Amino acid sequence: MSYASTLLGFLPGGRRAPGIAQLTSKLESYLPPDHVERVRDAYDYAEAAHKGQKRRSGEPYITHPVAVADILADLRMDGATLAAAILHDVVEDTGVSTAEIAEHFGGEIAEIVDGVTKLDQIRFKNRQEAQAESFRKMMLAMVRDIRVIMVKLADRVHNMRTLGAMPPAKRRLVARETLDIYAPIANRLGIHSIKLELEELGFRSLYPKRYRVIERELKRSRGNQKEFLPKITRNLADALKRAGIDGRVEAREKHLFSVYAKMRRKKVQLSEVIDVFGLRIVVATVDECYRVLGLAHGLYRPMPGRFKDYVAIPRVNGYQSLHTTLFGPNGMPLELQIRTSEMHEMAESGIAAHWAYKTGETDRGARQERAREWLKNVAQLQDASAEEVMENVKVDLFPDKVYVFTPKGDIMRLPRGATCVDFAYAVHTGVGNRCVAAKVDRRLAPLRTVLRNGQTVEIITAKGAQPNPAWASFVVSAKARAAIRQYLKGLRRGEAIDLGGRLLNQALEEFKLNIRALPPERLDQVAVALGLEDGKDLLEKIGLGERPAPLVARRVLPREEDLHEGGPQAPLAIAGTEGLVVAYARCCFPVPPDPVVAYLSSGRGVVIHRDNCGNVAGFRKQPEKWIPAVWQKQANRTFRSEIKVHVTNRMGVLAQVAAQIAANQTNIDHVNVTPEGDDTSMITLEIDVRDRGHLAQVMRAIKSMPDVIEVERTLA
Ligand code: MN
Repeated sequence: MSYASTLLGFLPGGRRAPGIAQLTSKLESYLPPDHVERVRDAYDYAEAAHKGQKRRSGEPYITHPVAVADILADLRMDGATLAAAILHDVVEDTGVSTAEIAEHFGGEIAEIVDGVTKLDQIRFKNRQEAQAESFRKMMLAMVRDIRVIMVKLADRVHNMRTLGAMPPAKRRLVARETLDIYAPIANRLGIHSIKLELEELGFRSLYPKRYRVIERELKRSRGNQKEFLPKITRNLADALKRAGIDGRVEAREKHLFSVYAKMRRKKVQLSEVIDVFGLRIVVATVDECYRVLGLAHGLYRPMPGRFKDYVAIPRVNGYQSLHTTLFGPNGMPLELQIRTSEMHEMAESGIAAHWAYKTGETDRGARQERAREWLKNVAQLQDASAEEVMENVKVDLFPDKVYVFTPKGDIMRLPRGATCVDFAYAVHTGVGNRCVAAKVDRRLAPLRTVLRNGQTVEIITAKGAQPNPAWASFVVSAKARAAIRQYLKGLRRGEAIDLGGRLLNQALEEFKLNIRALPPERLDQVAVALGLEDGKDLLEKIGLGERPAPLVARRVLPREEDLHEGGPQAPLAIAGTEGLVVAYARCCFPVPPDPVVAYLSSGRGVVIHRDNCGNVAGFRKQPEKWIPAVWQKQANRTFRSEIKVHVTNRMGVLAQVAAQIAANQTNIDHVNVTPEGDDTSMITLEIDVRDRGHLAQVMRAIKSMPDVIEVERTLA
């Protein structure tokens, strides 16, 4: 293609930037007149805006955006991309606002310009190599329209072409950034021509000496190959013709940076990389690719272990080809690529091939669709969910990650859906545990705020602050979840100790005593005597039901008090807020103010039963495990209850009952329907109620329904 063929032309020395006239005639060759006109308008506008500005090279500034547009014209990008390319530095470098661009050129172009401007604003402060990958991904994730990246890449190409005007230190910095970030992005999107140029220019600026050595050796090697290459090419072309396959055989240019990268990657000598014939055969169909492979293997002996089938298993950027290495003349290796012309176009231009303007195509939706289709395939290769890619953004190559900044400009990678709390824990567990508020893009935001790409997040912590158990319901990162769980475990211990203290006090009341009235060391002494750590440990064990409070109470009694035995045991007060160490029995579903008893369940704290529950019969056998309990007033929560509703069998009756319950602001947790005969059924419902009054109200409402025969609360 024209782009690639111009590549070597400017590599050694640079070339004159194209003027608007040259660009216009290029555009006229593939864009309709009104699109060309729009690009001309953009030019007039940008030229006026940049008036008086000069590039470092001394040329008028406008030459830069025109050159950027020219690069994109070689990729046959559409009119909007071209106009945006010409306007791409107007917002950043002149007084013009995005709104003004939108007014003059419409939203589509303004959005691309805005996207490029935003990318320019991300400055990469601490340029550690480890962050380059994150940075690339973040750039791609941030961009909603792939054309923004196209303009940005073309911008970088032209800046690299004119890098000579920069001071050496700046040159190295830009070159490294180009190799670390921009060339890999071009590669990721499959835009081979741009990737290649960025690599060659970046390599030359960063390592001028190595560049020159490889350049010299390549020239030498090319001289050596001159003797054999035409013969090999002819042999292959003849074989194709005999087999009736229409295809072309071409020599492959070796590129300096890829030679260098291969040397480093494979840890081999320069000669091993460059003293190789490189050929490519392009045919029409996939079937022919495999047939040509067979022909080539018949002509030259293949090297074992060097065949790669990227047709059946494409590379992550969508690249497809068959690769094989043959023993060429004089034993010189012959690397052969075989692909279809479609694959070839993809290998050269990647996503750009899909965005390329095709004659007569007025609808940009079709191009968008093709680009999406390509990305979808790429995403599938990367094992990401294609639906997600399509659903979230137009061009999201990393659908499961979100990239945000710390206030210092470091990049944090979090799972998609991550909140400020996830961010806080990603910074440090201590920050997560003590976070109380967050600022997103310098504005206060709730901790549960879901973060978006490119936001800057600042966490505000407070001394002594603690994680909120409610966070567990919205955090998505493994680290945050584990830290909160760890904390809840500690909290559970705290609750158990608290409950244990109450249970022990209750047991002590029998002796007209309480913990505070005991000698200070008493609990610790008893704990140690029982083989435990200390008094807190003992209370925890009581709270968890592993040590019956009445027995412990007897042990902690000072001897003389022991004699005053006899008062009735005071009941344990159930607040309903204990959550982790107090459970409600699923056999009898107690709700306040049902008369209840508490059962000490080893390891689980206490379980509350209704006092007429059948299971309480066991009371007789293990009296030390059962203790009286009462409800504290106004427990601010709901309790699970179970009712049975007998109904006549009629269509929709279950839905009516459910609707009636919902109408009473009551939640249904579980429903089960059992036929009782031909005419009636029993619906068993578990519902959440505040107390018995609430339960009665719901039952009355159900009973008033025409198809309902009977409503009863499940017997304890
Ligand atoms: Mn620029």
